Amino acid sequence: MPQTPQEVLQMIQDQDIKMIDLKFVDLPGMWQHCSFYRTQIDEASFVDGVPFDGSSIRGWKSINESDMAMVPDPNTAWIDPFMKEPTLSMICSIQEPRTGQPYDRDPRTIAAKAMQYLASTGIGDEAYFGPEPEFFVFDGVRFDQAENKSYYYVDSIEGRWNSGREEADGNLGYKPRYKEGYFPVGPADSMQDLRTEMLLTMAQCGVPIEKHHHEVATGGQGELGFRFVPLVQAADYMLTYKYVIRNVAKKHGKTVTFMPKPLFNDNGSGMHTHQSIWKGGKPLFFEAGTYANLSTLAKHYIGGILRHAPALLAFTNPTTNSYKRLVPGFEAPVNLAYSQGNRSASIRVPITGMNPKAKRIEFRCPDATCNPYLAFAAMLCAGLDGIMNQIDPGSSLDVDIYDLSPEELSKIPSTPGSLEKALEALESDREFLTTSGVFSEDFIDNWIGYKLDNEVNPMRLRPHPYEFALYYDA
Ligand code: GLU
Ligand code: MG
Ligand code: MG
Repeated sequence: MPQTPQEVLQMIQDQDIKMIDLKFVDLPGMWQHCSFYRTQIDEASFVDGVPFDGSSIRGWKSINESDMAMVPDPNTAWIDPFMKEPTLSMICSIQEPRTGQPYDRDPRTIAAKAMQYLASTGIGDEAYFGPEPEFFVFDGVRFDQAENKSYYYVDSIEGRWNSGREEADGNLGYKPRYKEGYFPVGPADSMQDLRTEMLLTMAQCGVPIEKHHHEVATGGQGELGFRFVPLVQAADYMLTYKYVIRNVAKKHGKTVTFMPKPLFNDNGSGMHTHQSIWKGGKPLFFEAGTYANLSTLAKHYIGGILRHAPALLAFTNPTTNSYKRLVPGFEAPVNLAYSQGNRSASIRVPITGMNPKAKRIEFRCPDATCNPYLAFAAMLCAGLDGIMNQIDPGSSLDVDIYDLSPEELSKIPSTPGSLEKALEALESDREFLTTSGVFSEDFIDNWIGYKLDNEVNPMRLRPHPYEFALYYDA
């Protein structure tokens, strides 16, 4: 992988690259791109950026001030495996062309600011993130959502598309049973070759791949794993992950969804996020002999995440569908508590033996509909707030939370029940994001407004398919 602009330009020469594809992330977290002929990129492009019109990008500039510049990061250069002509891909941050300053609504810029903030506190100089995104592979999705019609998708109403998907054609042979997708060998696992191709293609794009497997839900839920890396890089890899697996699926006539709860009454898809802070090459989360061998600093980091979780979820679980996953009974966390090994707590401390470098916490709430740059930056800010204010996370919860009595359960705070509730929490609990300057007030206001106008309200105003089942004959 090239490291410097000069090395990238050399690579373009040596490998006879024809096109340079510049990619950047929009506000909700989707890659956008524009391709340039090779002569259009030179050393200055890495400093001044490449101009483009930012007015049509979701959640960004208004039309009267639309000029923006994409600044490619030479460390993210790889040859795009999905393009016919030799094309070099690079991930960009966004800057204001007039001032040369980073654009403060650019999610990648915000992620970089979170890292600068970490360094400025003196607490650490590196934050490692290891996301575990899950997804479903489907043949496709069909719905009728014309503005002037009520929409209605028969198959998802009773979950027949769901738990009974394979029963629909009466054939039970070689299919994973309900909640038994994790993880019998083939022929029950029919996605093996597809996931291997996805994983190996990710490696071609520079992602340090580790593994893949089928997930718990019936046919087609999967997870690919890559190594934990520094925060900005982890977010870059997340976008690469989505790009690769969607395009590999497409090649095979399949589609992929990261919707947290596409199937009623079956496991959803999360993006558990492992995280730890280091300083001078030394991990800071380990201390031998304490609960789960956690350092005091790590406990305070947990305290920060749990205290700010309702607001945090506005970034880590930012879709209306996210809250259909955060319900009991499907391995998704509902209660805001931490525990060693216990997967029903929203923070799990994996048992990692006596190796300090492996000590980390796993926040299990996030899902892959998040913008990873914003989600990781917000989690780091919450954790740092916990460390600086020495927030005690209380005692750990080492029983299965799902087995507690209603009375015991009522003492444990829960995750917000809807995106609207999470946005309300963010409205009032935002200082942990803004006092550091990582997120601006304008950014938070814009985020809340964007989510309400484009997702919460449009969803609230439309008749839901299940309402037809409940009320059509009422
Ligand atoms: N799919 C589960 C979730 O929604 C997680 C399963 C697992 O532990 O990997 O979080
Ligand atoms: Mg998983
Ligand atoms: Mg996990």
